[in-house]
Amino acid sequence: MIDQFGRQIEYLRISVTDKCNLRCIYCMPLEGLPWLKRAEILTYEEITTIVRTAAGMGLKRVRLTGGEPLVRRDLVDLVEMLSGIDGIQDISLSTNAILFAKEAEALKRAGLDRVNISLDSLQADRVDELVRRPGSYANIMEGLAAAEAVGFHPIKINVVLMRGRNDDEIEAFAELTRERPLHVRFIEIMPTGSNLELSAESFLSCSEALARLRDVDALQPVEGPVGNGPATYYRYPEAVGTIGVITPMSHNFCDDCNRLRLTADGHLRPCLFGAIQTNLRDPLRRGEDIQPLIEETLRIKPERHDLVQGSEVGSGGLVALSQTGG
Ligand code: SAM
Ligand code: SF4
Repeated sequence: MIDQFGRQIEYLRISVTDKCNLRCIYCMPLEGLPWLKRAEILTYEEITTIVRTAAGMGLKRVRLTGGEPLVRRDLVDLVEMLSGIDGIQDISLSTNAILFAKEAEALKRAGLDRVNISLDSLQADRVDELVRRPGSYANIMEGLAAAEAVGFHPIKINVVLMRGRNDDEIEAFAELTRERPLHVRFIEIMPTGSNLELSAESFLSCSEALARLRDVDALQPVEGPVGNGPATYYRYPEAVGTIGVITPMSHNFCDDCNRLRLTADGHLRPCLFGAIQTNLRDPLRRGEDIQPLIEETLRIKPERHDLVQGSEVGSGGLVALSQTGG
């Protein structure tokens, strides 16, 4: 699958639910969102059919995301179904890790290869404030420990940078990579309909974070761990893990975009932002061939997003990243 800008598309992010057990301040409004109805959401069989069709066209890797993917029942079954598809070489999960510890072994057995955990602070009180669900920190730490114990590799930690909220922890996050094989990725906050003020006032660029880390120690550019999509990676001398930066706002990260997104209600999106999407669910339910629809979505994949900090311009009406899986 090659788009009109010569980018090879081999990666699909699949949102399995729009719901979440947290309310991260930059992602989801405290009161939640108008949730999709059950009948609107793709079944695991439907997701498997879409992935099988795309795998026949060149898809190699899938990531399960949400909302929080582990709030959907029997996620292990979906992992098992996807791992049986010819051509799919890599299955990963993006999670807040709240429910991960008790599922870790079963997920590994079912064929999950890798896990990304969202964690925006290393301080218990602060995590609970940022995710707006008391007691979360302890569960997330259990999830991370389980991921390490069960042997997922690489484990990536996603940190959304926010000035005045967690920017005093940039150095502490980076220190984690010296002794543990963790890959800490700093992400620039992106504007959506529900976080315009926060994303504008707390924006901090990854260049600033890197400059601060260079004051601590040398940062050597390195090849990232498996699945290094839009991140650029560095390593401290002798460190076992790496430090990555994801710069959707300060540098355009679209040049090497290798992905499509599938929303929980079965719309294929060629870009995280913007209004373009193709309904695969209804044609699939009518028994139609969806391959031409996937080809058409690929054909109209935009060259880049047009997000503007502090504005809804370019977001295509997106209220929260939980709606498209991030
Ligand atoms: N619930 C899972 C999680 O938190 O990892 C998966 C879905 S979440 C939408 C995927 C990723 O998007 C997370 O790493 C989260 O931190 C990130 N994210 C959400 N809203 C964001 C925003 N406005 N700007 C930057 N990253 C954001
Ligand atoms: Fe939920 Fe993930 Fe959004 Fe946080 S970032 S509210 S965990 S979907």
